[in-house]
Amino acid sequence: MAKSLDPLKTYRAKRDFDRTPEPSGETRPRRKAEKSAQRRKPRFVVQKHDARRLHYDFRLEVDGVLKSWAVPKGPSLDPRVKRLAVRTEDHPLDYARFEGIIPEGEYGAGTVIVWDEGTYRNLMQDKDEKLSMAQAIDAGHVEVWLQGRKLRGGFALVRLKPRAGERRENWLLIKMRDEAAVEARHAADTADPESVLSGRTLEEVEAEENDV
Ligand code: MN
Repeated sequence: MAKSLDPLKTYRAKRDFDRTPEPSGETRPRRKAEKSAQRRKPRFVVQKHDARRLHYDFRLEVDGVLKSWAVPKGPSLDPRVKRLAVRTEDHPLDYARFEGIIPEGEYGAGTVIVWDEGTYRNLMQDKDEKLSMAQAIDAGHVEVWLQGRKLRGGFALVRLKPRAGERRENWLLIKMRDEAAVEARHAADTADPESVLSGRTLEEVEAEENDV
């Protein structure tokens, strides 16, 4: 499979790291760290992002970067609910710990908290085709088992057929039916808005950083 030399090229092109506190992803993991990354479970993170429109960024660690989708309504635990998930550019691994304010005028300006994090397992690896995560994303059908603090169990990401002239990749994020499913049509967030890193809400991060 052809691989782009720098998977973070688009990520970097959109940002001015003299202005935004977001990580540049320039510090490449050393070979030793890369080897241990192959042994440990891959990570996922969901960031809550109060940008032009409030949304959740769903990110899965795949081959040294965070594959990313913006989910306007956030993940649902109800298997009957299909949430739009728009594919966005790959992010660096250290973005998974990023919380703070992206300044006005910069790409994605607004406040970010780490709403959930944990590890995941690629369920497509258990099927006959034994697809890697990269292959599953290319094929437009991903199934993962999340072990987060808030999100648990199986989640599917399914790519929709592009409409004529549509340049963005639209996917659906759907809770799979298992013991972690909850048949209630509310956003997963309503009862649980805080960061799993700092315990802060978006509003608290905004208030604190504006105090400095
Ligand atoms: Mn975002």
